[in-house]
Amino acid sequence: MSKISLKHIYKVYNNNVIAVEDFSMEIENNEFIVFVGPSGCGKSTTLRMIAGLENITAGEILIDDILVNDLEPIDRNIAMVFQNYALYPHMTVFENMAFSLRTNKVPTELIYEKVTHAAKILGITEYLDRLPKQLSGGQRQRVALGRAIVRNPKVFLLDEPLSNLDAKLRTQMRREIISLYEKLNTTFIYVTHDQVEAMTMGTRIVVMKDGKIMQIDSPINLYNHPNNLFVASFIGTPQMNFLNVFLNKKDNIVEINLKAQTIKIDYKLIQKVPLKYFENNLEVVLGIRPDDIRIKNNIYINNDSFCPLKVKVNSFEMLGNEIIVFGNLDLNSDEDFLISFKIAPNLSLNKNDIIDIEINLTKIHLFDKETTNSLIQKVPKENIIKTKIYNNKMNLGNNLIPLPDLMKINKNIITEVVIPNDAILLNQGNLSAIIENIE
Ligand code: ADP
Repeated sequence: MSKISLKHIYKVYNNNVIAVEDFSMEIENNEFIVFVGPSGCGKSTTLRMIAGLENITAGEILIDDILVNDLEPIDRNIAMVFQNYALYPHMTVFENMAFSLRTNKVPTELIYEKVTHAAKILGITEYLDRLPKQLSGGQRQRVALGRAIVRNPKVFLLDEPLSNLDAKLRTQMRREIISLYEKLNTTFIYVTHDQVEAMTMGTRIVVMKDGKIMQIDSPINLYNHPNNLFVASFIGTPQMNFLNVFLNKKDNIVEINLKAQTIKIDYKLIQKVPLKYFENNLEVVLGIRPDDIRIKNNIYINNDSFCPLKVKVNSFEMLGNEIIVFGNLDLNSDEDFLISFKIAPNLSLNKNDIIDIEINLTKIHLFDKETTNSLIQKVPKENIIKTKIYNNKMNLGNNLIPLPDLMKINKNIITEVVIPNDAILLNQGNLSAIIENIE
């Protein structure tokens, strides 16, 4: 059992570098949490503060509801595995794994039992008599994991444990760490800069940038509902395409002009976007993943969810199983509206070809250009609705709602009302709504 609470954690180093800023999260027992983000974003510092290897400048860390800010690392019952393995070169594998148990005066028989058990889990029984230098990188990393396992810790902290291994071994060790996690039933916190590692290992992922949390979510939610441009561009390869555009709402259709071409979207698909963005004067960023673009093909049933467009091919990369095409939705220049997408390897292509594609409108993303925040939040905090007010009543759809005394307006006006989600209760009043869509 181990639950970790991180409350408003800050780390400011002596050189005034703010390495971690207002980091808060609750980690439940048995979660596999991954901290991911570019180099220098504060992942290791956060991990080292949890381990007790680094003082925290402000905030509170609790393990199983006990404040551990001032506890020494050894008293936190946490095991840390480092990138460089940190094995004792002059000790055998057995002694490396037994070391912490010996210093804690664990009886010899129990040490033998724990070390051989851990060696069996990790498949390194036959190497117990070897020195670290007689092992491969992957085997050394297993010994480092073994040294953590024998201590039976409440929490495993792993700091880029696979980054010294080659690509093939990394994939193999990734699977081994996942199966270790499944066997041990313990909380894991894992640091990596590699989004593929994060997506394949984490039950929840913390995306960080410049010491701050950008989003905490499951892998699938990060991919489908990134909170902001940073998360959208960091998760997924090839990267999401971004186009700077304006939204122009005409009745129930929203038009996006791309010079000579227009994307038309059913308003229902993006009705979470606040109304002010639909007036064709606020620039927004349209995001579309390469995987949500396909070559137009007559065998597809005509479907309003897909918008046909033409793209001019700039270049392409042949990957064997697929081709990544880099093109331009502006057919007359090479600068605006650049996009990339994947096609089957059997299609022949040339630079400057114009090809017909379709984008999946149910998968588009929209972001505020200034704040970079998503305009299609998974769960929006509030609803912004245009309404007409007259006779001190507000017209919502065809429901007429009397305004409370404090909000009485004696004029007839058209305005926006903001209704927080938690102000909407089911089956409590006499308003009615038609369900358009369920997520
Ligand atoms: P990451 O693990 O994401 O690569 P780190 O947590 O190592 O990032 O570093 C976060 C920031 O803190 C970086 O700007 C780094 O240069 C700085 N930093 C890390 N350790 C120290 C230190 N001991 N003294 C001063 N600055 C540090």
